[in-house]
Amino acid sequence: MKIKPGDYAIHNRMEDVAKQAVALVLEEHDAGCSCRMCREDMQSLLLNQLPPRYVSVVPSIPLEPLRMEELEAETAAKVMWEARRAVSLVRKSPRHEHDRSPMQNCTESMARSALGEVLAQEQLEVSREQLGWIMAEILNELPPHYTTSFQGDAFARTAELDWGSLAKTYSIIYNVLKRLALIPAHS
Ligand SMILES: [Zn+2]
Repeated sequence: MKIKPGDYAIHNRMEDVAKQAVALVLEEHDAGCSCRMCREDMQSLLLNQLPPRYVSVVPSIPLEPLRMEELEAETAAKVMWEARRAVSLVRKSPRHEHDRSPMQNCTESMARSALGEVLAQEQLEVSREQLGWIMAEILNELPPHYTTSFQGDAFARTAELDWGSLAKTYSIIYNVLKRLALIPAHS
């Protein structure tokens, strides 16, 4: 079973926070580029340092952006510290003129293809909504790898070939399916 990006809907709520944090730092320090592309690069670097908070998106329940003020003090402090670091790294070597893809978490495509194999193997049929829950749970346990470059695809392929990371992904997938009672806990 091949899962396509349009087969489910999820959102990493830390993306909302990363956007706000980068905007705050750019207000503090006005010097240097703050174009849309540089901001996306800053957000990607920041997001790779933060544990993701994926949720499944259900059309009937509108999702308000997660706000900085809602974070625990310790998390908010870490977010701001990492945001300053991300902004300064990108400003030191901006790459806004390079070939780019929209900002994406490459871990997602890796997880999606591994999950497709597991569902086929287990002959499991899941609904669109269940697929969203499963993907969100899996991605919350894997390190994010946000990028704005087309090399993201290369990363996903390397991760698939890397036995250690793939084995880890499969074990996370099985644990999530058990937790959601989609496969028996003892199998
Ligand atoms: Zn720029």
